[in-house]
Amino acid sequence: MDKKVTVVIPVYNEELLINENVGVIAGYLRQAGTGFTILLVDDGSRDSTWQKLRELSKEHDFVKALRLSRNFGKEAAICAGLEEADGDACIIMDSDLQHPPQLIPEMIRLWKEDGYDVIEGVKSSRGNESMVKKVGAGMFYSILSKLSGLDMQQASDFKLLDRKVVDAWKSMNERGTFFRGMSAWVGYNRKSLPFSVGTRTRGTSKWSVFNLFNLAIKAITSFSSFPLHIVTFIGLFFLVGALILGIQTIYMKVSGMALSGFTTVILLLLIIGSALMISLGIIGTYIARIYEEVKFRPRYIVSEKAAGALNHEKIET
Ligand code: UDP
Ligand code: MG
Repeated sequence: MDKKVTVVIPVYNEELLINENVGVIAGYLRQAGTGFTILLVDDGSRDSTWQKLRELSKEHDFVKALRLSRNFGKEAAICAGLEEADGDACIIMDSDLQHPPQLIPEMIRLWKEDGYDVIEGVKSSRGNESMVKKVGAGMFYSILSKLSGLDMQQASDFKLLDRKVVDAWKSMNERGTFFRGMSAWVGYNRKSLPFSVGTRTRGTSKWSVFNLFNLAIKAITSFSSFPLHIVTFIGLFFLVGALILGIQTIYMKVSGMALSGFTTVILLLLIIGSALMISLGIIGTYIARIYEEVKFRPRYIVSEKAAGALNHEKIET
């Protein structure tokens, strides 16, 4: 039997481009000669995106749409899509064609013919992003790769995952998800496919530097506990300093050379104070993560589904 692919696309306020882009993506899927469904997840858009998705699902049998009850963020939208998807493989991609759909036939070929379970799009260039984002992303991925021991150089969410990988991914229960990291963590037979990020066809990026910084902190704290150990190192470093200074102070006192050293005292206070603050901050960040996890709230709430002309349901909860 022919294998079927589900393409999961998170969509947030993309009324300007979604119709056209779904057409383009479907074109490449047809070219790949495989059965497919395009699963559009509306991440609580405030514009007419949901109407557009409903129309698309009426117009085309291969389009299914989910609507989240509010904006839960791209990570949650991807989760919702992967949990709903029923294909033998899932492709995850952005709605703005920055993940080049031209690569879809090649991804499907690598999966079907060469037997790879994960085909990951790796950014070989980052398109026309600002310098801050480019440098930030470079630092973030190298820190994360070192700390987590997973190879995540310039990873992206543009991936094809075989059914068994999606099922393995589903068994990861954490609430705060970081899709790129989680799909690297599960392992399996992997192949990377370099691509250069295209220019957004229309509309603007939904990610500010601040959002990206938060995502980076979330990712690092969920994939490594190393920052907590830094606290211990800072403590040890100051302990050694304290011993040396203590001996020196006692020596000065005993030999009657003790002088009033205001500068030293003030500097030490400042340094120790900031070290303590940073340490508490690191510990606080992890406690916040634990708090989020123990609440065990659902990652997202689906409010509506649309698939085909007669098949529209409002989800009652
Ligand atoms: N997106 C989403 N929820 C959000 C923000 C973005 O589902 O809260 C979607 C968006 O519609 C797009 C993808 O995630 O399909 C990537 O977003 P964007 O192009 O704004 O980010 P960038 O390409 O700048 O990283
Ligand atoms: Mg984009």
